Amino acid sequence: DGKTVIGMFGISRDISESKRREDELRTMATTDFLTGLASRRDFIDDLNRQIARVQRSPQINTCLLMTDLDFFKRVNDAYGHAIGDAMLQHISGLMKSEIRRVDSVGRIGGEEFAILMPDTPLAAAHAFAERIRNKVMQTPLCDKDKVIPITVSIGITQISCKDQSFDSVFERADRALYQAKHFGRNRVELA
Ligand code: GH3
Ligand code: MG
Ligand code: MG
Repeated sequence: DGKTVIGMFGISRDISESKRREDELRTMATTDFLTGLASRRDFIDDLNRQIARVQRSPQINTCLLMTDLDFFKRVNDAYGHAIGDAMLQHISGLMKSEIRRVDSVGRIGGEEFAILMPDTPLAAAHAFAERIRNKVMQTPLCDKDKVIPITVSIGITQISCKDQSFDSVFERADRALYQAKHFGRNRVELA
């Protein structure tokens, strides 16, 4: 009867509603809300998959780039947090437009981005990092009448078949990144 039909519609609406919520939550967990890039968690899943691939086939070259904005605190301090956020979106957009289809890019921390480059030798990853660094340096954020430049420092490492998980890969890339900061920023350093 009519009552049952209404009830059935009610149930199917509940199901599609909970399905939608589920999709939404999954997207929230895997996507960074501000930039639309992969979240830290999702990026680490990708990285662990690439590590497993290198363990199976040690001849595979896969590199990781760790990128950190230089003196980003100054942007927040001088222009406010909203412009800081716009800068993060601006840099994310530049990175997305530069990477190849097979690469992945994630927002790993507040103003830290990582790029994973499968089947890429260190020299090619280095050349790519230099291209990103130059692109960022030459592409300031334009907001109304303001032109706000920024630079990035980048640390690079290659995944080794000895890497057991993402930790050791992040650690090497972080160390190279620290060197890039130490040697004056707006630089690329290899682990
Ligand atoms: P360095 O060159 O050594 O990296 O200097 P820095 O100022 O970039 O580094 P520091 O780690 O001192 O500052 C990072 C700043 O990033 C601090 C924090 O307020 C800001 N930040 C982190 N996440 C966000 C965010 O989501 N939005 C905005 N607007 N700022 C953020
Ligand atoms: Mg920084
Ligand atoms: Mg930082």
